[in-house]
Amino acid sequence: MASEKIPYKIYLSEEEMPKTWYNVRADMKNKPAPLLHPVTGQPMGYEDLRPVFCDELIRQELDNDTREIPIPEEILDFYKMYRPAPLVRAYCLEKKLQTPAKIYYKFEGNNTSGSHKLNSAIAQAYYAKQQGLVGVTTETGAGQWGTALSMACAYLGLDCKVYMVKCSYEQKPFRREVMRTYGASVTPSPSMETEVGRRILAEHPGTSGSLGCAISEAVEKATTTPGYRYVLGSVLNQVLLHQSVIGVEAKIALDKYGVVPDIIIGCAGGGSNLGGLISPFMGEKLRGERDYRFIAVEPASCPSFTRGRFAYDYCDTGMVCPLAKMYTLGSNFIPSASHAGGLRYHGMSSVLSQLYHDGMMEAVAVEQTKVFEAAEEFARVEGILPAPESSHAIRVAIDEALRCKETGEEKTILFGLTGTGYFDMVAYERFHNGEMTDTIPTDAELEASFARLPKVPGQE
Ligand SMILES: *Cc1c(COP(=O)(O)O)cnc(C)c1O
Repeated sequence: MASEKIPYKIYLSEEEMPKTWYNVRADMKNKPAPLLHPVTGQPMGYEDLRPVFCDELIRQELDNDTREIPIPEEILDFYKMYRPAPLVRAYCLEKKLQTPAKIYYKFEGNNTSGSHKLNSAIAQAYYAKQQGLVGVTTETGAGQWGTALSMACAYLGLDCKVYMVKCSYEQKPFRREVMRTYGASVTPSPSMETEVGRRILAEHPGTSGSLGCAISEAVEKATTTPGYRYVLGSVLNQVLLHQSVIGVEAKIALDKYGVVPDIIIGCAGGGSNLGGLISPFMGEKLRGERDYRFIAVEPASCPSFTRGRFAYDYCDTGMVCPLAKMYTLGSNFIPSASHAGGLRYHGMSSVLSQLYHDGMMEAVAVEQTKVFEAAEEFARVEGILPAPESSHAIRVAIDEALRCKETGEEKTILFGLTGTGYFDMVAYERFHNGEMTDTIPTDAELEASFARLPKVPGQE
Protein backbone atom coordinates (compact mmCIF):
# COMPACT_ATOMS: atom_id res chain seq x y z
CA MET A 1 0.00 0.00 0.00
CA ALA A 2 2.76 2.43 0.96
CA SER A 3 4.14 2.44 -2.57
CA GLU A 4 0.73 3.57 -3.80
CA LYS A 5 0.78 6.59 -1.55
CA ILE A 6 0.04 9.70 -3.58
CA PRO A 7 2.73 12.39 -3.23
CA TYR A 8 1.86 15.33 -1.01
CA LYS A 9 2.25 17.55 -4.08
CA ILE A 10 1.85 16.39 -7.65
CA TYR A 11 3.88 18.42 -10.13
CA LEU A 12 4.12 18.03 -13.90
CA SER A 13 7.28 17.94 -15.96
CA GLU A 14 7.72 20.39 -18.83
CA GLU A 15 6.71 17.70 -21.34
CA GLU A 16 3.54 16.90 -19.39
CA MET A 17 2.39 20.52 -19.22
CA PRO A 18 -0.72 21.43 -21.25
CA LYS A 19 -0.04 22.94 -24.68
CA THR A 20 -3.68 23.76 -25.44
CA TRP A 21 -6.63 25.40 -23.72
CA TYR A 22 -9.84 23.37 -23.71
CA ASN A 23 -13.02 25.09 -24.91
CA VAL A 24 -15.91 23.41 -23.08
CA ARG A 25 -18.45 25.18 -25.33
CA ALA A 26 -17.48 22.76 -28.11
CA ASP A 27 -19.04 19.91 -26.11
CA MET A 28 -22.14 21.80 -24.96
CA LYS A 29 -25.37 20.89 -26.78
CA ASN A 30 -27.04 24.05 -25.50
CA LYS A 31 -24.53 26.77 -26.28
CA PRO A 32 -24.31 29.87 -24.08
CA ALA A 33 -26.57 32.65 -25.39
CA PRO A 34 -24.89 35.34 -27.54
CA LEU A 35 -24.03 38.81 -26.25
CA LEU A 36 -26.61 41.43 -27.26
CA HIS A 37 -26.05 45.05 -28.24
CA PRO A 38 -27.05 47.29 -25.28
CA VAL A 39 -29.03 49.68 -27.52
CA THR A 40 -30.36 47.63 -30.47
CA GLY A 41 -30.79 44.33 -28.59
CA GLN A 42 -29.30 42.45 -31.59
CA PRO A 43 -26.68 39.68 -31.20
CA MET A 44 -23.19 41.14 -31.39
CA GLY A 45 -20.80 39.84 -34.03
CA TYR A 46 -17.09 40.26 -34.60
CA GLU A 47 -17.34 43.74 -36.17
CA ASP A 48 -19.63 45.05 -33.40
CA LEU A 49 -17.16 44.07 -30.70
CA ARG A 50 -13.99 45.38 -32.39
CA PRO A 51 -14.08 48.91 -30.92
CA VAL A 52 -14.00 47.45 -27.40
CA PHE A 53 -12.05 44.17 -27.46
CA CYS A 54 -8.87 42.84 -29.13
CA ASP A 55 -9.51 41.01 -32.42
CA GLU A 56 -8.17 37.58 -31.48
CA LEU A 57 -9.96 37.68 -28.13
CA ILE A 58 -13.25 38.38 -29.94
CA ARG A 59 -12.64 35.30 -32.10
CA GLN A 60 -12.15 33.25 -28.94
CA GLU A 61 -15.23 34.85 -27.37
CA LEU A 62 -17.43 33.85 -30.31
CA ASP A 63 -15.89 30.41 -30.95
CA ASN A 64 -18.36 27.82 -29.67
CA ASP A 65 -16.92 24.98 -31.77
CA THR A 66 -13.13 24.60 -31.57
CA ARG A 67 -12.39 22.11 -28.81
CA GLU A 68 -8.65 22.61 -28.37
CA ILE A 69 -6.98 25.99 -28.85
CA PRO A 70 -3.15 26.00 -28.92
CA ILE A 71 -1.51 28.16 -26.25
CA PRO A 72 0.99 30.48 -28.03
CA GLU A 73 4.66 29.80 -27.31
CA GLU A 74 5.21 33.19 -25.55
CA ILE A 75 2.35 32.50 -23.17
CA LEU A 76 3.70 29.02 -22.45
CA ASP A 77 7.03 30.67 -21.59
CA PHE A 78 5.33 33.06 -19.19
CA TYR A 79 3.35 30.20 -17.62
CA LYS A 80 6.67 28.45 -16.90
CA MET A 81 7.52 31.22 -14.41
CA TYR A 82 4.81 30.04 -12.02
CA ARG A 83 3.25 26.89 -13.45
CA PRO A 84 2.57 24.07 -13.05
CA ALA A 85 0.43 25.06 -10.09
CA PRO A 86 0.81 22.31 -7.48
CA LEU A 87 -1.98 19.81 -6.99
CA VAL A 88 -1.84 19.08 -3.27
CA ARG A 89 -3.22 16.11 -1.39
CA ALA A 90 -4.57 17.64 1.83
CA TYR A 91 -3.37 14.80 4.08
CA CYS A 92 -3.15 17.09 7.10
CA LEU A 93 -6.68 18.43 6.66
CA GLU A 94 -8.04 14.89 6.16
CA LYS A 95 -6.37 13.81 9.39
CA LYS A 96 -7.68 16.83 11.28
CA LEU A 97 -11.22 16.16 10.07
CA GLN A 98 -10.85 12.40 10.60
CA THR A 99 -12.64 11.86 7.32
CA PRO A 100 -12.39 8.86 5.01
CA ALA A 101 -12.64 11.34 2.11
CA LYS A 102 -9.57 12.09 0.04
CA ILE A 103 -9.11 15.81 -0.47
CA TYR A 104 -7.06 17.47 -3.21
CA TYR A 105 -6.65 21.13 -3.97
CA LYS A 106 -5.21 22.96 -6.96
CA PHE A 107 -3.26 25.93 -5.61
CA GLU A 108 -3.22 29.00 -7.88
CA GLY A 109 -1.73 31.47 -5.39
CA ASN A 110 1.90 30.74 -6.27
CA ASN A 111 2.62 33.97 -8.11
CA THR A 112 3.09 37.60 -7.04
CA SER A 113 -0.43 38.64 -8.04
CA GLY A 114 -1.59 35.97 -5.59
CA SER A 115 -4.37 34.43 -7.67
CA HIS A 116 -5.37 32.49 -10.79
CA LYS A 117 -6.11 35.77 -12.63
CA LEU A 118 -2.60 35.89 -14.09
CA ASN A 119 -3.49 32.93 -16.37
CA SER A 120 -5.86 35.09 -18.39
CA ALA A 121 -4.07 38.43 -17.87
CA ILE A 122 -1.00 37.22 -19.77
CA ALA A 123 -3.15 35.81 -22.57
CA GLN A 124 -5.15 39.00 -23.00
CA ALA A 125 -2.06 41.22 -22.85
CA TYR A 126 -0.33 38.96 -25.39
CA TYR A 127 -3.12 39.28 -27.98
CA ALA A 128 -3.25 43.06 -27.45
CA LYS A 129 0.48 43.22 -28.12
CA GLN A 130 0.16 40.98 -31.20
CA GLN A 131 -2.38 43.40 -32.60
CA GLY A 132 0.10 46.26 -32.23
CA LEU A 133 -1.90 48.08 -29.58
CA VAL A 134 -0.34 50.64 -27.23
CA GLY A 135 -2.18 49.56 -24.11
CA VAL A 136 -5.23 48.20 -22.34
CA THR A 137 -7.72 49.54 -19.82
CA THR A 138 -9.56 47.65 -17.13
CA GLU A 139 -11.30 47.96 -13.79
CA THR A 140 -10.41 46.33 -10.52
CA GLY A 141 -12.39 45.94 -7.32
CA ALA A 142 -10.39 44.24 -4.62
CA GLY A 143 -7.27 44.61 -6.78
CA GLN A 144 -6.31 41.05 -7.76
CA TRP A 145 -7.20 41.44 -11.43
CA GLY A 146 -5.51 44.84 -11.73
CA THR A 147 -2.37 43.39 -10.14
CA ALA A 148 -2.31 40.42 -12.49
CA LEU A 149 -2.84 42.58 -15.55
CA SER A 150 -0.12 45.02 -14.44
CA MET A 151 2.35 42.16 -14.21
CA ALA A 152 1.42 40.82 -17.64
CA CYS A 153 1.61 44.27 -19.27
CA ALA A 154 4.97 45.03 -17.66
CA TYR A 155 6.36 41.75 -19.05
CA LEU A 156 5.20 42.58 -22.58
CA GLY A 157 5.85 46.35 -22.50
CA LEU A 158 2.20 47.40 -22.79
CA ASP A 159 0.60 50.41 -21.15
CA CYS A 160 -1.92 49.45 -18.45
CA LYS A 161 -4.62 51.80 -17.19
CA VAL A 162 -6.62 50.59 -14.19
CA TYR A 163 -9.81 52.13 -12.78
CA MET A 164 -9.93 51.03 -9.17
CA VAL A 165 -13.18 51.26 -7.20
CA LYS A 166 -12.62 54.32 -4.99
CA CYS A 167 -13.25 52.63 -1.64
CA SER A 168 -10.71 49.89 -2.50
CA TYR A 169 -8.25 52.52 -3.74
CA GLU A 170 -8.40 54.13 -0.32
CA GLN A 171 -8.71 50.96 1.78
CA LYS A 172 -6.19 48.82 -0.10
CA PRO A 173 -3.18 51.08 -0.67
CA PHE A 174 -0.83 48.08 -0.82
CA ARG A 175 -2.59 46.52 -3.80
CA ARG A 176 -2.53 49.90 -5.50
CA GLU A 177 1.22 50.19 -4.95
CA VAL A 178 1.89 46.69 -6.29
CA MET A 179 0.14 47.74 -9.51
CA ARG A 180 2.21 50.93 -9.69
CA THR A 181 5.37 48.94 -9.04
CA TYR A 182 4.56 47.02 -12.24
CA GLY A 183 4.08 50.31 -14.10
CA ALA A 184 0.28 50.58 -14.24
CA SER A 185 -1.50 53.88 -13.78
CA VAL A 186 -4.25 53.55 -11.20
CA THR A 187 -7.20 55.96 -11.06
CA PRO A 188 -9.84 55.93 -8.31
CA SER A 189 -13.29 55.43 -9.85
CA PRO A 190 -15.55 57.30 -10.41
CA SER A 191 -13.11 59.89 -11.78
CA MET A 192 -13.28 63.17 -13.67
CA GLU A 193 -11.33 61.53 -16.55
CA THR A 194 -14.37 60.11 -18.32
CA GLU A 195 -17.79 61.36 -19.26
CA VAL A 196 -19.51 58.51 -17.44
CA GLY A 197 -17.36 59.21 -14.35
CA ARG A 198 -18.25 62.91 -14.38
CA ARG A 199 -21.94 62.04 -14.81
CA ILE A 200 -21.92 59.61 -11.88
CA LEU A 201 -20.03 62.10 -9.69
CA ALA A 202 -22.54 64.85 -10.54
CA GLU A 203 -25.44 62.55 -9.65
CA HIS A 204 -23.84 60.98 -6.56
CA PRO A 205 -21.21 63.34 -5.13
CA GLY A 206 -19.03 61.57 -2.57
CA THR A 207 -19.85 58.05 -3.88
CA SER A 208 -17.25 55.42 -3.04
CA GLY A 209 -17.74 53.77 -6.44
CA SER A 210 -18.66 50.28 -7.61
CA LEU A 211 -17.29 47.65 -9.94
CA GLY A 212 -20.04 48.30 -12.50
CA CYS A 213 -19.15 51.98 -12.55
CA ALA A 214 -15.40 51.32 -12.94
CA ILE A 215 -16.17 48.99 -15.89
CA SER A 216 -18.09 51.80 -17.61
CA GLU A 217 -15.14 54.16 -17.16
CA ALA A 218 -12.57 51.65 -18.43
CA VAL A 219 -14.68 50.85 -21.52
CA GLU A 220 -15.16 54.54 -22.32
CA LYS A 221 -11.43 55.22 -21.96
CA ALA A 222 -10.56 52.30 -24.26
CA THR A 223 -13.06 53.22 -26.97
CA THR A 224 -12.07 56.90 -27.01
CA THR A 225 -8.28 56.48 -26.92
CA PRO A 226 -6.54 55.34 -30.15
CA GLY A 227 -4.48 52.16 -29.74
CA TYR A 228 -6.30 50.96 -26.60
CA ARG A 229 -8.76 48.16 -25.93
CA TYR A 230 -10.65 47.04 -22.86
CA VAL A 231 -9.91 43.75 -21.07
CA LEU A 232 -11.92 41.95 -18.38
CA GLY A 233 -10.76 39.52 -15.71
CA SER A 234 -13.75 37.17 -15.45
CA VAL A 235 -17.26 36.38 -16.73
CA LEU A 236 -16.40 36.32 -20.48
CA ASN A 237 -16.07 33.07 -22.45
CA GLN A 238 -12.47 33.91 -23.41
CA VAL A 239 -11.47 34.18 -19.72
CA LEU A 240 -12.96 30.75 -18.97
CA LEU A 241 -11.04 29.40 -21.93
CA HIS A 242 -7.69 30.71 -20.63
CA GLN A 243 -8.48 29.49 -17.12
CA SER A 244 -9.03 25.97 -18.47
CA VAL A 245 -5.27 25.58 -17.99
CA ILE A 246 -6.14 25.02 -14.29
CA GLY A 247 -8.42 22.09 -15.03
CA VAL A 248 -6.31 20.57 -17.79
CA GLU A 249 -3.25 20.57 -15.55
CA ALA A 250 -5.23 19.13 -12.64
CA LYS A 251 -6.61 16.37 -14.85
CA ILE A 252 -3.20 15.41 -16.22
CA ALA A 253 -1.84 15.23 -12.66
CA LEU A 254 -4.75 13.12 -11.39
CA ASP A 255 -4.69 10.83 -14.42
CA LYS A 256 -1.00 10.21 -13.75
CA TYR A 257 -1.96 8.48 -10.49
CA GLY A 258 -5.27 7.07 -11.67
CA VAL A 259 -7.23 9.32 -9.30
CA VAL A 260 -10.80 10.19 -10.29
CA PRO A 261 -12.55 12.92 -8.30
CA ASP A 262 -16.19 12.40 -7.32
CA ILE A 263 -16.85 16.02 -6.37
CA ILE A 264 -15.24 19.15 -7.81
CA ILE A 265 -15.72 22.42 -5.93
CA GLY A 266 -14.84 26.02 -6.67
CA CYS A 267 -15.80 29.51 -5.54
CA ALA A 268 -17.77 31.53 -8.06
CA GLY A 269 -17.55 35.29 -8.53
CA GLY A 270 -17.80 35.74 -12.29
CA GLY A 271 -17.12 32.03 -12.73
CA SER A 272 -13.70 31.99 -14.38
CA ASN A 273 -11.69 29.87 -11.94
CA LEU A 274 -14.53 27.43 -11.41
CA GLY A 275 -15.21 27.24 -15.13
CA GLY A 276 -11.52 26.69 -15.81
CA LEU A 277 -11.13 24.03 -13.14
CA ILE A 278 -14.15 21.98 -14.14
CA SER A 279 -13.90 22.39 -17.94
CA PRO A 280 -12.15 19.16 -18.95
CA PHE A 281 -14.14 17.14 -16.40
CA MET A 282 -17.38 18.77 -17.54
CA GLY A 283 -16.39 17.86 -21.11
CA GLU A 284 -16.33 14.19 -20.11
CA LYS A 285 -19.72 14.56 -18.44
CA LEU A 286 -21.19 16.35 -21.47
CA ARG A 287 -19.88 13.62 -23.79
CA GLY A 288 -21.40 10.98 -21.50
CA GLU A 289 -18.03 9.42 -20.66
CA ARG A 290 -18.01 9.94 -16.90
CA ASP A 291 -20.12 11.53 -14.17
CA TYR A 292 -18.96 14.09 -11.64
CA ARG A 293 -20.65 16.37 -9.11
CA PHE A 294 -19.69 20.00 -9.63
CA ILE A 295 -20.41 22.55 -6.89
CA ALA A 296 -20.22 26.32 -7.30
CA VAL A 297 -19.84 28.16 -3.99
CA GLU A 298 -21.01 31.74 -3.71
CA PRO A 299 -21.41 34.20 -0.82
CA ALA A 300 -24.87 34.35 0.77
CA SER A 301 -24.52 38.14 0.43
CA CYS A 302 -24.27 37.90 -3.38
CA PRO A 303 -26.13 34.70 -4.39
CA SER A 304 -26.29 34.95 -8.21
CA PHE A 305 -26.81 31.21 -8.87
CA THR A 306 -28.92 30.20 -5.90
CA ARG A 307 -31.29 33.18 -5.84
CA GLY A 308 -30.70 35.01 -9.14
CA ARG A 309 -32.68 35.04 -12.39
CA PHE A 310 -31.50 33.44 -15.64
CA ALA A 311 -31.97 36.48 -17.87
CA TYR A 312 -30.28 38.98 -20.15
CA ASP A 313 -28.73 41.75 -18.10
CA TYR A 314 -26.19 44.55 -18.30
CA CYS A 315 -22.64 43.67 -17.28
CA ASP A 316 -22.01 47.20 -15.92
CA THR A 317 -23.84 50.02 -14.15
CA GLY A 318 -23.35 52.57 -16.95
CA MET A 319 -25.06 50.18 -19.42
CA VAL A 320 -22.38 50.63 -22.08
CA CYS A 321 -21.30 46.96 -22.15
CA PRO A 322 -23.10 44.22 -24.10
CA LEU A 323 -26.00 42.38 -22.49
CA ALA A 324 -25.21 38.83 -21.38
CA LYS A 325 -27.64 36.03 -20.58
CA MET A 326 -26.68 34.81 -17.16
CA TYR A 327 -27.79 34.13 -13.62
CA THR A 328 -27.97 37.66 -12.26
CA LEU A 329 -29.13 39.65 -9.27
CA GLY A 330 -29.64 42.68 -11.54
CA SER A 331 -26.95 45.19 -12.52
CA ASN A 332 -28.40 47.62 -9.97
CA PHE A 333 -27.94 45.19 -7.10
CA ILE A 334 -25.25 46.41 -4.70
CA PRO A 335 -24.12 43.53 -2.49
CA SER A 336 -23.23 44.30 1.11
CA ALA A 337 -19.58 45.11 1.76
CA SER A 338 -18.41 41.51 2.27
CA HIS A 339 -14.72 40.75 2.55
CA ALA A 340 -14.60 38.51 -0.51
CA GLY A 341 -14.33 41.41 -2.98
CA GLY A 342 -13.74 39.04 -5.91
CA LEU A 343 -17.13 37.41 -5.39
CA ARG A 344 -19.20 40.59 -5.28
CA TYR A 345 -20.32 40.61 -8.92
CA HIS A 346 -24.05 40.68 -9.73
CA GLY A 347 -23.83 38.25 -12.66
CA MET A 348 -22.16 34.99 -13.67
CA SER A 349 -20.41 33.51 -16.73
CA SER A 350 -22.89 32.65 -19.53
CA VAL A 351 -21.21 29.26 -19.98
CA LEU A 352 -21.63 28.28 -16.33
CA SER A 353 -25.12 29.80 -16.26
CA GLN A 354 -26.21 27.59 -19.15
CA LEU A 355 -24.64 24.49 -17.56
CA TYR A 356 -26.34 25.25 -14.25
CA HIS A 357 -29.65 25.87 -16.01
CA ASP A 358 -29.27 22.48 -17.75
CA GLY A 359 -28.75 20.72 -14.41
CA MET A 360 -25.10 19.88 -15.08
CA MET A 361 -23.85 21.49 -11.86
CA GLU A 362 -24.99 22.51 -8.37
CA ALA A 363 -24.55 25.70 -6.38
CA VAL A 364 -24.53 26.56 -2.68
CA ALA A 365 -24.37 29.90 -0.88
CA VAL A 366 -22.37 30.24 2.35
CA GLU A 367 -22.10 32.92 5.03
CA GLN A 368 -18.81 34.71 5.51
CA THR A 369 -18.27 33.93 9.21
CA LYS A 370 -18.52 30.22 8.36
CA VAL A 371 -16.11 30.83 5.48
CA PHE A 372 -13.52 32.41 7.76
CA GLU A 373 -13.86 29.54 10.25
CA ALA A 374 -12.96 27.18 7.40
CA ALA A 375 -10.13 29.47 6.24
CA GLU A 376 -8.54 29.40 9.66
CA GLU A 377 -8.96 25.67 10.12
CA PHE A 378 -7.30 25.13 6.74
CA ALA A 379 -4.45 27.61 7.36
CA ARG A 380 -3.56 25.96 10.66
CA VAL A 381 -3.07 22.49 9.21
CA GLU A 382 -2.15 23.05 5.54
CA GLY A 383 0.00 26.15 6.08
CA ILE A 384 -1.33 28.29 3.23
CA LEU A 385 -3.10 31.55 4.21
CA PRO A 386 -6.11 31.45 1.86
CA ALA A 387 -7.88 34.38 0.20
CA PRO A 388 -11.42 34.98 1.50
CA GLU A 389 -12.76 34.13 -1.98
CA SER A 390 -10.93 30.80 -2.09
CA SER A 391 -12.11 30.01 1.41
CA HIS A 392 -15.66 29.67 0.12
CA ALA A 393 -14.50 26.53 -1.69
CA ILE A 394 -12.63 25.34 1.42
CA ARG A 395 -15.85 25.68 3.46
CA VAL A 396 -17.81 23.39 1.18
CA ALA A 397 -14.92 20.94 0.70
CA ILE A 398 -14.77 20.57 4.50
CA ASP A 399 -18.57 20.19 4.70
CA GLU A 400 -18.51 17.45 2.06
CA ALA A 401 -15.61 15.70 3.82
CA LEU A 402 -17.51 15.80 7.11
CA ARG A 403 -20.55 14.32 5.39
CA CYS A 404 -18.32 11.45 4.24
CA LYS A 405 -17.29 10.97 7.87
CA GLU A 406 -20.95 10.47 8.80
CA THR A 407 -21.72 8.08 5.96
CA GLY A 408 -18.33 6.38 5.84
CA GLU A 409 -18.02 7.06 2.10
CA GLU A 410 -14.48 7.38 0.73
CA LYS A 411 -15.23 10.11 -1.76
CA THR A 412 -12.49 11.95 -3.60
CA ILE A 413 -12.89 15.71 -3.44
CA LEU A 414 -11.05 18.23 -5.59
CA PHE A 415 -11.31 21.94 -4.92
CA GLY A 416 -9.79 25.09 -6.38
CA LEU A 417 -7.66 27.15 -4.00
CA THR A 418 -7.58 30.31 -6.06
CA GLY A 419 -5.26 32.53 -4.07
CA THR A 420 -3.61 33.85 -0.94
CA GLY A 421 -5.03 36.32 1.58
CA TYR A 422 -2.05 38.48 2.61
CA PHE A 423 -3.85 41.65 1.50
CA ASP A 424 -7.02 40.66 3.35
CA MET A 425 -5.77 40.83 6.91
CA VAL A 426 -8.31 43.52 7.83
CA ALA A 427 -10.99 40.92 7.09
CA TYR A 428 -9.19 38.34 9.23
CA GLU A 429 -8.86 40.98 11.96
CA ARG A 430 -12.62 41.61 11.94
CA PHE A 431 -13.21 37.88 12.16
CA HIS A 432 -10.82 37.46 15.09
CA ASN A 433 -12.38 40.40 16.93
CA GLY A 434 -15.85 38.95 16.50
CA GLU A 435 -16.85 41.98 14.44
CA MET A 436 -17.72 40.11 11.26
CA THR A 437 -21.40 40.00 10.31
CA ASP A 438 -23.40 38.06 7.73
CA THR A 439 -25.65 40.15 5.54
CA ILE A 440 -28.16 38.30 3.40
CA PRO A 441 -30.38 40.23 0.97
CA THR A 442 -34.14 39.93 1.56
CA ASP A 443 -36.49 38.59 -1.13
CA ALA A 444 -37.99 42.08 -1.40
CA GLU A 445 -34.57 43.59 -2.12
CA LEU A 446 -33.92 41.05 -4.84
CA GLU A 447 -37.40 41.49 -6.36
CA ALA A 448 -36.83 45.25 -6.54
CA SER A 449 -33.62 44.63 -8.43
CA PHE A 450 -35.19 42.01 -10.78
CA ALA A 451 -37.94 44.51 -11.64
CA ARG A 452 -35.26 46.66 -13.25
CA LEU A 453 -33.85 43.95 -15.53
CA PRO A 454 -33.71 45.22 -19.12
CA LYS A 455 -36.59 44.53 -21.49
CA VAL A 456 -35.30 42.13 -24.13
CA PRO A 457 -37.50 40.46 -26.80
CA GLY A 458 -38.43 36.97 -25.60
CA GLN A 459 -37.69 37.86 -21.97
CA GLU A 460 -40.83 38.57 -19.97
C1 LIG B 1 -11.21 37.17 -8.58
C2 LIG B 1 -11.04 36.05 -7.66
C3 LIG B 1 -12.02 35.03 -7.54
C4 LIG B 1 -13.32 35.05 -8.26
O1 LIG B 1 -13.29 35.20 -9.64
P1 LIG B 1 -13.82 34.07 -10.64
O2 LIG B 1 -13.79 34.73 -11.96
O3 LIG B 1 -15.19 33.68 -10.20
O4 LIG B 1 -12.88 32.96 -10.56
C5 LIG B 1 -11.76 33.97 -6.69
N1 LIG B 1 -10.62 33.90 -5.97
C6 LIG B 1 -9.68 34.87 -6.04
C7 LIG B 1 -8.46 34.73 -5.19
C8 LIG B 1 -9.85 35.96 -6.88
O5 LIG B 1 -8.90 36.89 -6.96
